[in-house]
Amino acid sequence: ISASANPPSSSGEIVENVVIIGSGPAGYTAAIYAARANLKPVVFEGYQMGGVPGGQLMTTTEVENFPGFPEGITGPDLMERMRKQAERWGAELYPEDVESLSVKTAPFTVQSSERKVKCHSIIYATGATAKRLRLPREEEFWSRGISACAICDGASPLFKGQVLAVVGGGDTATEEALYLTKYARHVHLLVRRDQLRASKAMQDRVINNPNITVHYNTETVDVLSNTKGQMSGILLRRVDTGEETELEAKGLFYGIGHSPNSQLLEGQVELDSSGYVLVREGTSNTSVEGVFAAGDVQDHEWRQAVTAAGSGCMAALSAERYLTSNN
Ligand code: FAD
Repeated sequence: ISASANPPSSSGEIVENVVIIGSGPAGYTAAIYAARANLKPVVFEGYQMGGVPGGQLMTTTEVENFPGFPEGITGPDLMERMRKQAERWGAELYPEDVESLSVKTAPFTVQSSERKVKCHSIIYATGATAKRLRLPREEEFWSRGISACAICDGASPLFKGQVLAVVGGGDTATEEALYLTKYARHVHLLVRRDQLRASKAMQDRVINNPNITVHYNTETVDVLSNTKGQMSGILLRRVDTGEETELEAKGLFYGIGHSPNSQLLEGQVELDSSGYVLVREGTSNTSVEGVFAAGDVQDHEWRQAVTAAGSGCMAALSAERYLTSNN
């Protein structure tokens, strides 16, 4: 195995050094580093979002917390820049979904809708998907009142100083509610059950916070708008009595969890009970040598573009070391 060429295997077929799966900040950063290390990475960018590469940030407007952009940058702009940077250094980009892969024997096999690739290492960076409620008007108000990321959007002018609501009763929802109290006039926490599922410490912090009202046994039915078409409230239903009420709110944050896109690794690489890829602490190393994971697919805690990019860098450098040491 050479860290600079794509050598044939013993059977004479071409074996790539590294295949990167995913085109979010983790995948593109891994591609930039791997390409600069002359590994000639093959990147499967994914086709799930209608053929648009770039991952979750393609669904947002302003990104205000990615370092280097003091005035902010739109999500699509940021991702296009990362893509171009990867391309400039020679990453081979395919806008295709990987449909299956096998890491049981080396070299590994990656099968997309269009091609089958053999490779010595894989960087798995397929991200995670925020779970949605599928409210009737969700699409209409996505990013215009409904958000799945308080840290990303809480300080936006759309929400600052407003009454906001968070739906969910676990750690994510309680954390989002507490975070939003920094910016919001008041925060309502909408909990379907008759109690919170979050850790005791988080529960105490929420219950003792005068800026948070917890609504138990409460189902979120839909969002409401004013005559200007802006979000103005939320339609709620009591789970126990069926009674419907309207709550005034300018924003609704989903705190009902994320699903890591790790299906392709099931049964081949160790995952945790929620499906996140398990990496050895402080590394990108999965349970299979030569398979590395980066970004939200292995991170249920931070889930930020900059942390995803950082772990993409780690994965590429680790893959380079792995290839060199197996030379
Ligand atoms: P993703 O961005 O999720 O990308 C995963 C990629 O993998 C996608 O391109 C997908 O198509 C591809 N993929 C999946 N399956 C396959 C497959 N089988 N084959 C090939 N490709 C596949 N973070 C911030 O730091 N600041 C913000 O302001 C911010 N705003 C956000 C706003 C919204 C609406 C959302 C949803 C998230 C926001 N985030 C923000 C979080 C940030 O987007 C994520 O933390 C980050 O995108 C994770 O990067 P990633 O590379 O791990 O995965």
